[in-house]
Amino acid sequence: MENVIILGTGISGCTAAIYTARSNLKPLVISGPEDGGQLTLTTEVENFPGFIHGVQGTELVSNAKQQAERFGARFKVDIASKFNPIKDGYELELTSGEKIQTKTLIISTGASARWLNIPSEEKFKGRGVSSCATCDGPFYKNKHVIVIGGGDSAMEEATFLTKFASKVTVIHRKDKFTASKIMQDRLLANPKCNVIWNKTITEFQGEKTIKSVTLEDTKTKEHTSFACDGVFLAIGHIPNSTIFKDQITMDALGYIQTDRFTKTNLEGVFACGDVQDTRYRQAITAAGSGCQSAIEAERYLAEKGIH
Ligand code: NDP
Repeated sequence: MENVIILGTGISGCTAAIYTARSNLKPLVISGPEDGGQLTLTTEVENFPGFIHGVQGTELVSNAKQQAERFGARFKVDIASKFNPIKDGYELELTSGEKIQTKTLIISTGASARWLNIPSEEKFKGRGVSSCATCDGPFYKNKHVIVIGGGDSAMEEATFLTKFASKVTVIHRKDKFTASKIMQDRLLANPKCNVIWNKTITEFQGEKTIKSVTLEDTKTKEHTSFACDGVFLAIGHIPNSTIFKDQITMDALGYIQTDRFTKTNLEGVFACGDVQDTRYRQAITAAGSGCQSAIEAERYLAEKGIH
């Protein structure tokens, strides 16, 4: 039986791996479907302390993984599909069919991009509709793209897309953004960016790729057609907690509920990072909660006298 299994290799999981490895717990880290987490989908991280000129998200998380490996953490590429309490611990079933038992579990499965869930979206996913500007931005050289959303992600993605696109239109369903002021100001000062307020997309149109979208005015409900070459969604995230449903306490949106020590309702199960954070959702807070979970798992094992 493992001492500790960590689910997820984002910055929270990698931090938990560094701490549990340095405590000689020999953690096993399961990567999940989005290896490296959300930081691998971003460009420069400007607000992680210690990097005067910022750091690339992929570099930050890759370094954290290598740092954990240096202390003995083991990383495994697989996906946990089932979770069950057993005597003295928990069992995870992986999509490969393997079953592993563990005395403690740290859930750092993060959150994944939210989609609009309108009928035509599926048809154009990867053919004009994207949720990752870093991944797909270079395909839109000298094109006109739309970014949907009004938070920090929308500001960041729109500003990033101006490196490629000739024009970036941000469409938001309200009349003001929720993004931080510095990121709003950066967007509004960019001559390639413009904003359309109080509109949502109700349909994507095109043939092989997108040619236009139908916009609905959130006040008048009037519909208009708007030409564009691509649409980037930056409308928030959904926590990856499905396999714990009915066993671990979560809120209505699926965020795992923890106390201030990152403990869940199950003994020896801790959650950190974006799967349990509805409030901060920053790289630094994810890393911080990963550290907390690791220390709590170590204390739990010591108190039980099982390590
Ligand atoms: P947010 O939840 O902050 O914002 C989501 C945005 O999408 C809101 O404007 C919301 O509008 C809109 N939205 C949600 N659903 C829909 C829908 N169905 N149709 C149209 N619009 C919709 O998510 P973010 O991903 O922007 O940010 C998450 C966290 O990550 C935040 O804490 C943010 O600060 C942080 N972050 C920090 C960065 C940095 O500091 N460098 C970069 C990126 C993110 P409404 O307001 O109407 O709900």
